[in-house]
Amino acid sequence: MNIDILTIFPDMFAPLNESILLRARENNLISVRLIDIRDFSFNKHNKVDDYPFGGGAGMVMKPEPIFRAVQSLDLAKDDPVIMMSPQGERFNHSIAENLAAKDRLTFICGHYEGIDERVREELVSRELSIGDYVLTGGELPAMVIIDAVARLLPGVLGHEASAEEDSFAQGLLEYPHYTRPREFVGKTVPSVLLSGNHEQIRLWRRKKSLERTLLRRPELINIADLTKEDKGLLREIKDKYPKSGNNNS
Ligand code: SAM
Repeated sequence: MNIDILTIFPDMFAPLNESILLRARENNLISVRLIDIRDFSFNKHNKVDDYPFGGGAGMVMKPEPIFRAVQSLDLAKDDPVIMMSPQGERFNHSIAENLAAKDRLTFICGHYEGIDERVREELVSRELSIGDYVLTGGELPAMVIIDAVARLLPGVLGHEASAEEDSFAQGLLEYPHYTRPREFVGKTVPSVLLSGNHEQIRLWRRKKSLERTLLRRPELINIADLTKEDKGLLREIKDKYPKSGNNNS
Protein backbone atom coordinates (compact mmCIF):
# COMPACT_ATOMS: atom_id res chain seq x y z
CA MET A 1 0.00 0.00 0.00
CA ASN A 2 1.26 3.49 -0.87
CA ILE A 3 0.52 6.23 1.63
CA ASP A 4 1.12 9.95 1.08
CA ILE A 5 0.82 12.30 4.03
CA LEU A 6 0.48 16.04 3.54
CA THR A 7 1.64 17.84 6.66
CA ILE A 8 3.47 20.89 7.91
CA PHE A 9 5.09 18.79 10.67
CA PRO A 10 6.67 15.71 9.02
CA ASP A 11 8.73 14.98 12.15
CA MET A 12 5.53 14.08 14.01
CA PHE A 13 5.45 10.77 12.12
CA ALA A 14 8.33 9.27 14.09
CA PRO A 15 6.24 6.15 15.00
CA LEU A 16 6.72 5.05 11.38
CA ASN A 17 10.34 4.40 12.31
CA GLU A 18 9.60 1.95 15.11
CA SER A 19 8.46 -1.61 15.68
CA ILE A 20 5.89 -3.22 13.39
CA LEU A 21 5.43 -0.20 11.12
CA LEU A 22 9.17 0.06 10.51
CA ARG A 23 9.32 -3.65 9.63
CA ALA A 24 6.30 -3.27 7.32
CA ARG A 25 8.10 -0.44 5.52
CA GLU A 26 11.36 -2.34 5.31
CA ASN A 27 9.49 -5.32 3.84
CA ASN A 28 7.76 -3.02 1.32
CA LEU A 29 4.31 -3.90 2.65
CA ILE A 30 3.66 -0.20 3.09
CA SER A 31 5.45 2.71 1.53
CA VAL A 32 4.98 6.12 3.16
CA ARG A 33 5.90 9.51 1.73
CA LEU A 34 5.84 12.57 3.97
CA ILE A 35 5.03 15.63 1.91
CA ASP A 36 5.78 18.97 3.52
CA ILE A 37 3.01 21.35 2.51
CA ARG A 38 5.46 24.25 2.98
CA ASP A 39 7.39 23.02 -0.06
CA PHE A 40 4.35 24.00 -2.13
CA SER A 41 3.95 27.47 -0.68
CA PHE A 42 5.74 29.62 -3.20
CA ASN A 43 6.01 32.72 -1.07
CA LYS A 44 8.97 34.29 0.66
CA HIS A 45 8.54 32.76 4.10
CA ASN A 46 6.87 29.49 3.04
CA LYS A 47 3.71 30.74 4.69
CA VAL A 48 0.93 28.17 4.77
CA ASP A 49 -1.66 29.97 6.92
CA ASP A 50 -3.51 33.27 6.90
CA TYR A 51 -6.09 35.24 8.87
CA PRO A 52 -9.71 34.07 8.69
CA PHE A 53 -12.09 36.08 6.55
CA GLY A 54 -14.77 37.46 8.84
CA GLY A 55 -12.33 37.91 11.70
CA GLY A 56 -11.92 35.90 14.86
CA ALA A 57 -9.14 34.09 16.62
CA GLY A 58 -6.60 31.75 15.06
CA MET A 59 -5.26 31.14 11.60
CA VAL A 60 -6.55 29.08 8.69
CA MET A 61 -4.45 26.86 6.41
CA LYS A 62 -4.32 28.35 2.94
CA PRO A 63 -5.77 26.33 0.05
CA GLU A 64 -3.15 26.92 -2.70
CA PRO A 65 -0.21 24.96 -1.22
CA ILE A 66 -2.49 22.00 -0.43
CA PHE A 67 -3.99 22.05 -3.94
CA ARG A 68 -0.50 22.09 -5.46
CA ALA A 69 0.70 19.31 -3.17
CA VAL A 70 -2.26 17.06 -4.03
CA GLN A 71 -1.94 17.81 -7.75
CA SER A 72 1.74 16.82 -7.61
CA LEU A 73 0.70 13.29 -6.56
CA ASP A 74 -1.05 12.53 -9.85
CA LEU A 75 -3.78 10.54 -8.11
CA ALA A 76 -6.26 8.33 -9.94
CA LYS A 77 -9.91 9.38 -9.74
CA ASP A 78 -10.83 6.73 -7.15
CA ASP A 79 -7.79 7.08 -4.87
CA PRO A 80 -9.11 8.27 -1.49
CA VAL A 81 -8.01 11.69 -0.26
CA ILE A 82 -8.67 11.72 3.46
CA MET A 83 -8.79 14.91 5.48
CA MET A 84 -8.33 14.64 9.21
CA SER A 85 -11.08 16.59 10.98
CA PRO A 86 -12.91 16.41 14.31
CA GLN A 87 -16.07 17.04 12.25
CA GLY A 88 -15.57 13.93 10.10
CA GLU A 89 -17.00 10.44 10.15
CA ARG A 90 -15.85 8.68 13.35
CA PHE A 91 -13.06 6.21 12.56
CA ASN A 92 -13.64 2.57 13.55
CA HIS A 93 -12.63 -0.99 12.67
CA SER A 94 -14.92 -1.26 9.69
CA ILE A 95 -13.50 1.94 8.14
CA ALA A 96 -9.99 0.56 8.81
CA GLU A 97 -10.93 -2.60 6.88
CA ASN A 98 -12.34 -0.54 4.04
CA LEU A 99 -9.15 1.54 3.79
CA ALA A 100 -6.94 -1.57 4.07
CA ALA A 101 -8.45 -2.78 0.79
CA LYS A 102 -7.14 0.28 -1.11
CA ASP A 103 -3.79 0.43 -2.92
CA ARG A 104 -3.18 4.08 -2.25
CA LEU A 105 -4.20 6.50 0.50
CA THR A 106 -3.56 10.22 0.85
CA PHE A 107 -3.95 12.02 4.18
CA ILE A 108 -4.23 15.78 4.68
CA CYS A 109 -3.37 16.98 8.18
CA GLY A 110 -4.83 20.27 9.33
CA HIS A 111 -3.56 22.70 11.98
CA TYR A 112 -4.60 25.96 13.64
CA GLU A 113 -8.33 26.62 13.18
CA GLY A 114 -8.41 24.14 10.31
CA ILE A 115 -8.15 24.17 6.53
CA ASP A 116 -9.77 26.51 4.00
CA GLU A 117 -13.16 24.96 3.19
CA ARG A 118 -12.45 24.80 -0.55
CA VAL A 119 -9.93 22.02 0.08
CA ARG A 120 -12.70 19.89 1.58
CA GLU A 121 -15.11 20.76 -1.23
CA GLU A 122 -12.74 20.17 -4.14
CA LEU A 123 -10.09 17.68 -3.10
CA VAL A 124 -11.30 15.55 -0.24
CA SER A 125 -13.22 12.30 -0.68
CA ARG A 126 -13.42 11.39 2.99
CA GLU A 127 -13.23 13.33 6.25
CA LEU A 128 -12.26 11.24 9.28
CA SER A 129 -12.27 11.98 12.99
CA ILE A 130 -10.64 9.81 15.66
CA GLY A 131 -13.09 10.90 18.35
CA ASP A 132 -15.17 13.68 19.82
CA TYR A 133 -12.37 15.89 21.09
CA VAL A 134 -10.12 18.42 19.41
CA LEU A 135 -6.38 17.92 18.95
CA THR A 136 -3.88 20.57 17.90
CA GLY A 137 -3.30 18.97 14.51
CA GLY A 138 -4.16 16.12 12.15
CA GLU A 139 -0.78 14.35 12.44
CA LEU A 140 -1.62 12.18 15.46
CA PRO A 141 -5.05 11.24 14.05
CA ALA A 142 -3.48 10.30 10.69
CA MET A 143 -0.84 8.25 12.50
CA VAL A 144 -3.56 6.43 14.48
CA ILE A 145 -5.43 5.58 11.30
CA ILE A 146 -2.31 4.47 9.42
CA ASP A 147 -1.34 2.19 12.32
CA ALA A 148 -4.81 0.64 12.51
CA VAL A 149 -4.96 0.12 8.72
CA ALA A 150 -1.39 -1.18 8.34
CA ARG A 151 -1.82 -3.96 10.91
CA LEU A 152 -4.72 -5.34 8.84
CA LEU A 153 -2.55 -5.75 5.73
CA PRO A 154 -1.40 -9.31 5.00
CA GLY A 155 2.05 -10.03 6.42
CA VAL A 156 2.34 -6.90 8.59
CA LEU A 157 1.70 -8.63 11.92
CA GLY A 158 3.73 -11.71 11.13
CA HIS A 159 1.11 -14.23 12.23
CA GLU A 160 -2.20 -13.11 10.80
CA ALA A 161 -4.49 -14.83 13.27
CA SER A 162 -3.83 -12.12 15.83
CA ALA A 163 -5.59 -9.37 13.86
CA GLU A 164 -8.58 -11.63 13.19
CA GLU A 165 -9.10 -12.40 16.87
CA ASP A 166 -8.54 -8.85 18.12
CA SER A 167 -11.33 -6.76 19.54
CA PHE A 168 -13.87 -5.54 16.95
CA ALA A 169 -12.61 -7.81 14.15
CA GLN A 170 -15.52 -10.18 14.78
CA GLY A 171 -17.76 -7.56 16.33
CA LEU A 172 -16.84 -8.45 19.94
CA LEU A 173 -14.18 -7.46 22.48
CA GLU A 174 -11.38 -9.97 22.84
CA TYR A 175 -10.99 -12.38 25.80
CA PRO A 176 -8.41 -11.68 28.58
CA HIS A 177 -4.79 -12.80 28.19
CA TYR A 178 -2.38 -14.40 30.66
CA THR A 179 1.31 -15.32 30.50
CA ARG A 180 3.91 -16.62 32.96
CA PRO A 181 4.16 -16.77 35.95
CA ARG A 182 1.18 -19.02 36.74
CA GLU A 183 0.72 -17.28 40.06
CA PHE A 184 1.28 -13.58 40.61
CA VAL A 185 0.17 -11.17 43.37
CA GLY A 186 -1.81 -14.06 44.85
CA LYS A 187 -3.77 -14.59 41.61
CA THR A 188 -3.58 -17.72 39.52
CA VAL A 189 -4.12 -18.17 35.81
CA PRO A 190 -7.54 -19.77 35.07
CA SER A 191 -6.93 -23.53 35.19
CA VAL A 192 -8.61 -24.20 31.84
CA LEU A 193 -5.78 -22.30 30.10
CA LEU A 194 -3.27 -24.76 31.58
CA SER A 195 -5.37 -27.83 30.77
CA GLY A 196 -4.12 -28.36 27.22
CA ASN A 197 -7.75 -29.03 26.21
CA HIS A 198 -8.08 -26.90 23.08
CA GLU A 199 -11.86 -27.19 22.82
CA GLN A 200 -12.34 -26.15 26.46
CA ILE A 201 -9.92 -23.26 25.95
CA ARG A 202 -11.79 -22.13 22.82
CA LEU A 203 -15.11 -22.23 24.68
CA TRP A 204 -13.71 -20.37 27.71
CA ARG A 205 -12.27 -17.65 25.47
CA ARG A 206 -15.46 -17.27 23.50
CA LYS A 207 -17.51 -17.00 26.68
CA LYS A 208 -15.13 -14.39 28.15
CA SER A 209 -15.26 -12.46 24.91
CA LEU A 210 -19.07 -12.43 25.02
CA GLU A 211 -19.08 -11.57 28.73
CA ARG A 212 -16.68 -8.64 28.32
CA THR A 213 -18.63 -7.29 25.39
CA LEU A 214 -21.96 -7.64 27.20
CA LEU A 215 -20.69 -5.90 30.33
CA ARG A 216 -18.62 -3.18 28.66
CA ARG A 217 -20.18 -2.60 25.25
CA PRO A 218 -23.70 -4.09 25.23
CA GLU A 219 -24.55 -2.21 22.03
CA LEU A 220 -21.99 -4.37 20.19
CA ILE A 221 -23.70 -7.57 21.36
CA ASN A 222 -26.96 -6.26 19.92
CA ILE A 223 -25.52 -6.11 16.40
CA ALA A 224 -23.08 -9.05 16.58
CA ASP A 225 -23.56 -12.05 14.34
CA LEU A 226 -24.01 -14.71 17.05
CA THR A 227 -24.02 -18.47 16.53
CA LYS A 228 -26.32 -20.88 18.36
CA GLU A 229 -23.39 -21.73 20.66
CA ASP A 230 -22.81 -18.00 21.37
CA LYS A 231 -26.46 -17.55 22.30
CA GLY A 232 -26.25 -20.47 24.73
CA LEU A 233 -23.13 -19.00 26.32
CA LEU A 234 -24.80 -15.60 26.47
CA ARG A 235 -27.76 -17.06 28.37
CA GLU A 236 -25.35 -18.48 30.97
CA ILE A 237 -23.62 -15.08 31.25
CA LYS A 238 -26.92 -13.29 31.68
CA ASP A 239 -27.89 -15.68 34.47
CA LYS A 240 -24.67 -14.63 36.19
CA TYR A 241 -25.24 -10.91 35.48
CA PRO A 242 -29.04 -10.49 35.41
CA LYS A 243 -28.82 -6.68 35.18
CA SER A 244 -26.82 -6.66 31.93
CA GLY A 245 -29.30 -5.60 29.25
CA ASN A 246 -29.38 -6.37 25.52
CA ASN A 247 -31.74 -7.98 23.06
CA ASN A 248 -29.52 -10.39 21.15
CA SER A 249 -30.38 -13.80 22.60
N1 SAM B 1 -11.58 24.52 14.46
C1 SAM B 1 -11.76 23.12 14.21
C2 SAM B 1 -13.11 22.68 14.72
O1 SAM B 1 -13.59 23.24 15.72
O2 SAM B 1 -13.71 21.75 14.15
C3 SAM B 1 -10.68 22.32 14.91
C4 SAM B 1 -9.34 22.49 14.29
S1 SAM B 1 -8.09 21.51 15.08
C5 SAM B 1 -7.51 22.60 16.31
C6 SAM B 1 -6.79 21.50 13.91
C7 SAM B 1 -6.69 20.26 13.06
O3 SAM B 1 -6.44 19.14 13.89
C8 SAM B 1 -7.88 19.89 12.25
O4 SAM B 1 -7.91 20.60 11.02
C9 SAM B 1 -7.71 18.40 12.03
O5 SAM B 1 -6.86 18.13 10.93
C10 SAM B 1 -6.99 17.98 13.31
N2 SAM B 1 -7.87 17.35 14.31
C11 SAM B 1 -8.16 17.84 15.54
N3 SAM B 1 -8.94 17.02 16.24
C12 SAM B 1 -9.16 15.96 15.45
C13 SAM B 1 -9.90 14.75 15.59
N4 SAM B 1 -10.60 14.48 16.70
N5 SAM B 1 -9.89 13.86 14.59
C14 SAM B 1 -9.21 14.12 13.44
N6 SAM B 1 -8.51 15.25 13.24
C15 SAM B 1 -8.48 16.15 14.22
